Amino acid sequence: MPLAQPRRPGRPPEDLYLCSGRDSPVRCADCGGYLSATVHQRGAVYEDGEVRRHYRVLKRPAGGCGRTVADLRALDSVIGDLTVQRLTDPRQVAMIRRIQAEHRAAREPYAAEIARHEETRAYFDRRLGSGAITTAQHAAAVGEADAGILAARAALDRLASAPVPELDEAAMTRIAAGWRSATPAQKYRDLRRVWLGFQILVTPGSSTETEEQVRKRVSRPKRTGAS
Ligand SMILES: [Zn+2]
Repeated sequence: MPLAQPRRPGRPPEDLYLCSGRDSPVRCADCGGYLSATVHQRGAVYEDGEVRRHYRVLKRPAGGCGRTVADLRALDSVIGDLTVQRLTDPRQVAMIRRIQAEHRAAREPYAAEIARHEETRAYFDRRLGSGAITTAQHAAAVGEADAGILAARAALDRLASAPVPELDEAAMTRIAAGWRSATPAQKYRDLRRVWLGFQILVTPGSSTETEEQVRKRVSRPKRTGAS
């Protein structure tokens, strides 16, 4: 976990650039690869003197297209706006709620089934413990319950492969209100939390484009792995 590592102040590790990394919702629209932050070869700087960086998709190790995606600050700003908008637009908040409710409703029958089978199992465990039944009788009795538990757990695992953001209203308000003043580490975590189960595709472009130009290359977020 990059966040758990000690780091020098003022110089976040590569993984802390908002949009970069395997766990980022931001992906290349061309190849689906994740972004890495790179400094300009000629050491160009921003107006405030900080070294200019841009995002690109590395060819190795993950086999990406190798293309430049966008200036780092421009893309971070566009993605930040998109994130705040998601948390403050009533329609988008309603959509998050709906997805959460659907997810809970889909899980419920399996969770109930597991609980029921576990009760059955506990009953026969007690019977075995008190000597009321033999080991063979116990095995026969709990076989069905164990199979049922396994099947329900597998179903829950399949549902978990389409994760949904676990954000309540307080968290949404806090993240949106604090976005501009949040530390890079906070933004890094919040971005991944807000967009869990979603992908934001960005068409490759140039590292010198303005924020407005970059904004046009960012697609509407899409759910991933949803059935
Ligand atoms: Zn690509």
